[in-house]
Amino acid sequence: MSARKLFGTNGIRGLVNVELTPEMVIKVGCSIGTFFGRKNLLIGHDARTSGPMFARAVVSGLTATGCNVFFAGMAPTPALQYAVKNHKMDGGVIITASHNPPEYNGIKVIWSDGIETSHEQEVEIENIYFDNKIVFAEWDKLGTLRELPGINDEYIQAIEKQVNPAKIAERHFHVVVDAANSVGGLTAPPLLRELGCKVTSINANIDGTFPGRLPEPRPESLTDLASTVKAIGADLGVAFDGDADRSIFVDENGVIYWGDKTFAVIIKQFLIKNPGAKIVTPVSSSTLIKDTVQAYKGELIWTKVGSVTVSQKMKELNAKLGGEENGGVFYGPHQAVRDGAMTTALLLNIMAETGEKLSKLVAEQPQYFLEKGKIECPDEKKEVLLQKLFEQVKGENISTIDGVKIWFSDNSAILIRPSGTEPVFRLYAEAKSQEKALKLVEDYSSRLKKILETV
Ligand code: MG
Repeated sequence: MSARKLFGTNGIRGLVNVELTPEMVIKVGCSIGTFFGRKNLLIGHDARTSGPMFARAVVSGLTATGCNVFFAGMAPTPALQYAVKNHKMDGGVIITASHNPPEYNGIKVIWSDGIETSHEQEVEIENIYFDNKIVFAEWDKLGTLRELPGINDEYIQAIEKQVNPAKIAERHFHVVVDAANSVGGLTAPPLLRELGCKVTSINANIDGTFPGRLPEPRPESLTDLASTVKAIGADLGVAFDGDADRSIFVDENGVIYWGDKTFAVIIKQFLIKNPGAKIVTPVSSSTLIKDTVQAYKGELIWTKVGSVTVSQKMKELNAKLGGEENGGVFYGPHQAVRDGAMTTALLLNIMAETGEKLSKLVAEQPQYFLEKGKIECPDEKKEVLLQKLFEQVKGENISTIDGVKIWFSDNSAILIRPSGTEPVFRLYAEAKSQEKALKLVEDYSSRLKKILETV
């Protein structure tokens, strides 16, 4: 964490008792409480061993600054976000490090609309923290602390209302759930049983050391899920990240799909039912998303990379569907935030309505090959390098929403972005063949290096 920065892309993150200590978290709680100013806030945490400790530290800071705290206990991030809106809270705080390893924890601050706070709001909280502008309440105006049980059940019921439970139940789906020993296990299995599915769970017991697998759902950590689905003849497998806002799926043959493939399945059905609808996605998403939105006549809205940006753009445009390639799907009729259990219900609803297996739904999509690369670039030269690159390619079909993305006439594309955390530029190429994708990375790496020699 740099001198005056607490927040990263999704909240505050750090190593427990090294970067993120109880003293610091109490001060963060005081700063969040001062930012909101004596309001009603909902708080919860994921399954991490440090969750109860940090939740109490935040509660201490919030009540000290006069906020009334409602304590929801252990919950997925999207369940807490839903409850903030549903209970008309002024905001919320969830203690989670999402997909980071077990030795990490973090803090996400939620605004009254259920969406994480904006970058500008986070800067306000940071200014209170670093400039010691905390406003403590007098002894007789301290905030209160109450329990608010049952938010996970309310969340499950809300998701059921967004799909056709009778239609899903007719199919008697068998689903394997891998909750990474975290909070996804509290909501997904009961939701699926409510929808008439047979559920087999792996890594289901809550254990903040994450003994089953790391909380980041990567293909290499989902081999148990994939082999279980195949071995028992299940229809679908789903894996969540640590706070269950992202979901990655496995088809009936045990094939693991990265998030853009299942997002494209959801886009297609959504556009068939909602012609011309707006689909919001970061510029890092696959060309598959662009192809699908074009094929089914939707309107594609690109954003900068980051889930909060997608949520805010959906809200601004009243768009009902958004998604990221990492398995985050935002379903506006429920809530405009990433939501793993909602995504699972949507996919089952599509499988029920079309009568198709997931493998078939994905097989009809155009196929792309991905290559990644990076070149070193000192932080102080990043901006001028980006500007020079832009001047060279500005005649082409490009977007400069986040870095430079270039689409070529043969449907290949490359995204070139400066890293926010390391002195490097990252290159992500996509093409109809692996060779072409690799060539794009090589060509643009040498082009960037050449420009760098001149700046
Ligand atoms: Mg997450």
